Amino acid sequence: MKYISTRSKIEPINSAEAILRGLAEDGGLFVPEKIPKVTLEEIGELIGKKYEQRAEWLLEKFLTDYTADELGECAELAYNWFDIPSRVPVAILIQDPKNPIAPVGEMELWHGPTSAFKDVALQMLPHLMRMALKKVGETKEILILVATSGDTGKAALAGFADVPQTKVMVFYPDGGVSKIQRLQMVTQVGDNVNVTAVRGNFDDCQNGVKKIFGDEKIRDELDKVGVKLSSANSINWGRLVPQIVYYFAGYVELIKSKQIKLGDKINVSVPTGNFGNILAAYYAMRMGLPVKKLICASNKNDVLTEFFRTGVYNRNRKFFKTITPSMDILISSNLERLLYHETNGDFKQVARYMSELSTLGKYKIDRKLKDKLDKIFHAEVVTEEETLDFIRRIRDSFGYVMDTHSAVAVAALNKYRGKTKDLIPVLSASTASPYKFTNAVLQAIGESTDGVDDLKQLDLLNRLTNVKIPKNLAALSTAKILHEDVCDKDEMPERVLKFAAK
Ligand SMILES: *Cc1c(COP(=O)(O)O)cnc(C)c1O
Repeated sequence: MKYISTRSKIEPINSAEAILRGLAEDGGLFVPEKIPKVTLEEIGELIGKKYEQRAEWLLEKFLTDYTADELGECAELAYNWFDIPSRVPVAILIQDPKNPIAPVGEMELWHGPTSAFKDVALQMLPHLMRMALKKVGETKEILILVATSGDTGKAALAGFADVPQTKVMVFYPDGGVSKIQRLQMVTQVGDNVNVTAVRGNFDDCQNGVKKIFGDEKIRDELDKVGVKLSSANSINWGRLVPQIVYYFAGYVELIKSKQIKLGDKINVSVPTGNFGNILAAYYAMRMGLPVKKLICASNKNDVLTEFFRTGVYNRNRKFFKTITPSMDILISSNLERLLYHETNGDFKQVARYMSELSTLGKYKIDRKLKDKLDKIFHAEVVTEEETLDFIRRIRDSFGYVMDTHSAVAVAALNKYRGKTKDLIPVLSASTASPYKFTNAVLQAIGESTDGVDDLKQLDLLNRLTNVKIPKNLAALSTAKILHEDVCDKDEMPERVLKFAAK
């Protein structure tokens, strides 16, 4: 399997190369030349397998320049840190099909070392990279630059910390992440890690990082100190591929718990930000996973819902900080891959849209493309009140406590069901432990948090629910703060050069 760019005709490259480069030189994203197909029989064979084996099976389809042994090793190393044998369990909220908030399989993607779904990919990526460096004979050190709206940062730090031949540097919006998210990042240990706050929002961080990637002078400077840039953001193909796994695994879990039979169609609901998670679901669907609709759930920053409804992507809009900060995004980078595939690889068209997005801040897709997307996606926006209301309702009905992002997906699903009366079983992506957003979760279940410190809130939530505090979060109260740098967005390049030379 070879990889090409979404924006121009390039010489196809191997997956190891695509994973190391992160972004194509023309600014486009790497995509597989074609999407592999799987049969129902193959999916059925996953039933008796453990998560690591399911991952190896899927990775082999895309990363054909790695050996099966290498991919097996990657899967073992990535998931042995997950705190539950099934790795990605599916909690079933059901029982009454007439009840509009059921049946739903909550696919818990947050049992990794940082309690966020990004662990699923970011525990794997460093190993894929480490092996890729060997494959291409690269002797330089690679520097992973990350712009984060919260969860990616810690997950990347945890994944790369002390991995040989790598450095990792994370920029997050100052004041734009939860206290716990910040603590998780600024207490990160490791000789090869740096964490810097940027005065601005997530898009400032992301644009700053993109600019650095596109700046030849900076590349030259880094070259002199033996460092090459790479990305761990969800635009990296090595991030996306491990995410496709859990849609197959989740489907198989629904079979195992007798919610569906092999071959039955399901819907998938995903709380969406940068469009990585839902894009993985799209790949699974194109590969042959029986999926009817992908429900794209937005918060108040509903640029994607507007896009799917009108065909216009317009980032010229107000930016809101919400109780679902990991979805507070105006440019959903991975959408570019969807445009590429659904225009049958029309890279000129994709390049035009992306150029309009960068010059005018918007673009409008043509009718034909819009019709195609309508058949696959349904988009809904969920308000903060609705999000909190759903956390409470789900807890009251099922005794199950979910985080705000996960609740956005369930609330969007509920709207979809109300409008379409389509009540087939659903896999809903649960993207963070409720303990990562205790303030909002406690408010939702009717508990005042006035004057209660974020760390005390962990204990409070623990007392009110039967859910255990994840180990990594319980340890935060005593962890030492190691990173206190803050900079303006214009200062990002010099910070990078300084850290690279360290
Ligand atoms: C990153 C993240 C999302 C959004 O996922 P994308 O792949 O960026 O669309 C949703 N919820 C949580 C908790 C996240 O960390």
